[in-house]
Amino acid sequence: MIRVTDLHKRYGRTHAVKGVSFEVNRGEIVGLLGHNGAGKSTVMKIITGYLEPGEGSVTVGGLDVISDRIGVQRLIGYMPESSPLYPEMLVQEYLLMMAELRGVPGDQQETAVLDAVRATGLEAWLLRPISTLSKGYRQRVGLAQAIVHKPDVLVLDEPTSGLDPVQIVEIRALIRRLAENSTVILSTHILSEIEAVCDRAVILIDGVLAADSKLTDLLASNSVRVSLRTGTTGVEPTLASIPGVEAVLPTGADAGNNGYELWTVRCSPASSESSAEPLSAAVIAAAAQAGWSVASVTAETQNLEQVFRDLMSDHIARRSAAESAAAVSGGVSR
Ligand code: ATP
Repeated sequence: MIRVTDLHKRYGRTHAVKGVSFEVNRGEIVGLLGHNGAGKSTVMKIITGYLEPGEGSVTVGGLDVISDRIGVQRLIGYMPESSPLYPEMLVQEYLLMMAELRGVPGDQQETAVLDAVRATGLEAWLLRPISTLSKGYRQRVGLAQAIVHKPDVLVLDEPTSGLDPVQIVEIRALIRRLAENSTVILSTHILSEIEAVCDRAVILIDGVLAADSKLTDLLASNSVRVSLRTGTTGVEPTLASIPGVEAVLPTGADAGNNGYELWTVRCSPASSESSAEPLSAAVIAAAAQAGWSVASVTAETQNLEQVFRDLMSDHIARRSAAESAAAVSGGVSR
């Protein structure tokens, strides 16, 4: 439904988006995750046709955002980070105006507004000036204007930013309901938001695509902990010889089992054993063959925060290596 291919965007000397490619399939809820300044809003503005790509291409429903911007905008409902609401207007007036702007035929505008108002729980607020609404209800108005023309695709930039915890829960539930009829891409820097709402995460770091993965795959552990009788010999070489294992680390005494110690066995992410399930089976088989006394084998759990921190440190390490290499080659050429 959305295809972003080798997208670049520069603002003067700031290279905000650096060769990003990803796809969003029909019916998916995809979270665009990244730190402040990672490039999320820029990507969203380009998808919605509010900003031109520098290089690369973006299509929505097969339409190109440059050559068919109006066609793309008809397919999309966009809620920018701060919705440009008109505070003096009544909710109803504003939504009717947005229905008109989005090309809803005159005789269908009232029904379209009522449908959007019902979907966002704004029935009691129709005749209130927008300026008198709480931030949470203003977000709802932002969502209502995004769905008033029943778009196939919803693009939501930081939809829960600035809301209190109760409002956050309500808006997330609302987004999940809206996703029953639309494809959704939302941006956030809140990790729990992705876990609460999305099927898939596209992670941007410094304008670079750092990960694009189903949440279940992203959070799948690639390491297991095995508890072996203290003093077991040959642990490291035996477990390291399992295909795909990249590290076998002693992890200290097993607090739950007297006389046993823990070992962490980790696979490289690219290996076929890279999820904990086949790795556990391989560790159990190796231990049985070696005749070891095993108290337990458990998959280590991962959370999105850890995954994000690991991606960040990988990115920083790669960037410093590239900068050092550039400094060295600059020095040589001088
Ligand atoms: P946030 O979570 O803080 O909203 P973001 O991930 O949405 O951040 P962007 O707003 O896309 O990030 O910004 C990416 C980079 O581009 C940042 O370095 C930002 O300062 C820069 N940038 C964004 N808009 C402009 C602009 N209009 N002019 C110059 N630089 C800009």
